[in-house]
Amino acid sequence: MHHFIDEFLSQVQANNPGEPEFHQAVHEVATSLVPVLERHPEYRAAKILERMVEPERTIMFRVPWQDDQGEIHVQKGYRVQFNSAIGPYKGGLRFHPSVNLSILKFLGFEQTFKNSLTTLPMGGGKGGSNFSPKGRSDHEVMRFCQSFMTELQRYIGPNTDVPAGDIGVGGREIGYLFGQYKRLRNEFSGVLTGKGLGWGGSLIRTEATGYGAVYFAEEMLSTQGDSIEGKLCAVSGSGNVAQYTAEKINQLGGKVVTLSDSGGMIHDPAGIDAEKLAWVMDLKNGRRGRISEYADQFRDATFEKYDASRGFNPLWDIDVDCAFPCATQNEINAKDAANLLKNNVGMVTEGANMPSVPDAADLFTEAAILYGPSKAANAGGVAVSGLEMSQNSMRISWSRDELDKRLHDIMIDIHGACRDASEEYGTPGNYANGANIAGFKKVADSMLAQGLV
Ligand code: NDP
Repeated sequence: MHHFIDEFLSQVQANNPGEPEFHQAVHEVATSLVPVLERHPEYRAAKILERMVEPERTIMFRVPWQDDQGEIHVQKGYRVQFNSAIGPYKGGLRFHPSVNLSILKFLGFEQTFKNSLTTLPMGGGKGGSNFSPKGRSDHEVMRFCQSFMTELQRYIGPNTDVPAGDIGVGGREIGYLFGQYKRLRNEFSGVLTGKGLGWGGSLIRTEATGYGAVYFAEEMLSTQGDSIEGKLCAVSGSGNVAQYTAEKINQLGGKVVTLSDSGGMIHDPAGIDAEKLAWVMDLKNGRRGRISEYADQFRDATFEKYDASRGFNPLWDIDVDCAFPCATQNEINAKDAANLLKNNVGMVTEGANMPSVPDAADLFTEAAILYGPSKAANAGGVAVSGLEMSQNSMRISWSRDELDKRLHDIMIDIHGACRDASEEYGTPGNYANGANIAGFKKVADSMLAQGLV
């Protein structure tokens, strides 16, 4: 079987040249599926894995737009519709200069398994653009979003493909995108999630990814009779996922001592309490400022610039009990993982998508610490997006308590599914294997049932 996986991975590399993030994501999933493929020859016979790594459809388009000075810019636009075996394509849009096909294929591939784990009927997709909203005026962002949606609207719809936000796409961008879709199609529908509360959005969606990651962390800790209460926590990033991860850690009695952005990190040994976090939310969501300003505002804190040439991130070299990477992919390298372990970290829960490079993930697994992989731990966001779709279809709105309870229950179920699958296939306690296996089986069985499509 290992020979088959090696051949399969070589083929994926040959068929998708120059796409290292996509290769990394496929490698991670395929290697953990060995015992499943051994026990289920029908998956191999039907070439399920070979079909799963090929997106059902990849759309690439031109996005021209004009800045406030009248200068014309041309951006790349993408939507990767990866897998619709269990529901309409579902996954975020990312606006960041680093966006390319490899990154969107890795994200769309992961999304297929993540959505399967949520227990809701959603397929996998991802999209975005190499546009950077950073430093752009609201008018410029609106013109870009309108141009992007003018093309994207041909391919999406409430029963076909329902995008959401991701890095660089928050409430403001979803608003502009939704407005243009509605105008072009003359329909008010649940075509996007992450909408504003007054126009079809769901309570708890904004908080869902961060809250869900901490609920997942609580479940992992509870297997050791432990909890977040009293734990020192390092959180990276300062965007949507980081903010609400920090909020839930505070609510459950933990102490968050770090945050970051692409410019650097802040360390506040006194803890980023609710008041300081409210200041960060205003900084990032309102004024759109830099995290370095935190150290000017709160004198106990220090700011350290990010310097890639050092080979490690000082954020992961702080003595903490728990780590919550919530910024971006591959933000924890092997040296960072070794630093965390040297300081006796007991748990790593991934709020961002694929934040640990493979060698770092291997170190966490070998050390047998609690390691919650992104496709399980950060599935709360898309889960509440699924609940937003249900509310839109039924034209009702659930209460905050109802939605928080549903989110919490879903995270408990995802944790249970990962734990059970890892035990059933011989690697108890390995949540990474468990998430891949549980996510895969539901999609694979649906593909088998639907024939060769
Ligand atoms: P945001 O745009 O709100 O925040 C992203 C944060 O990460 C910012 O602080 C940003 O800093 C930082 N960041 C981004 N790129 C880099 C980089 N290359 N190096 C260092 N820091 C970086 O995005 P989200 O919080 O929504 O997303 C964060 C992660 O969570 C992503 O991996 C995303 O895919 C994942 N995720 C998000 C979900 C959601 O519901 N939003 C759902 C599931 C996963 P700066 O402002 O300087 O760029």
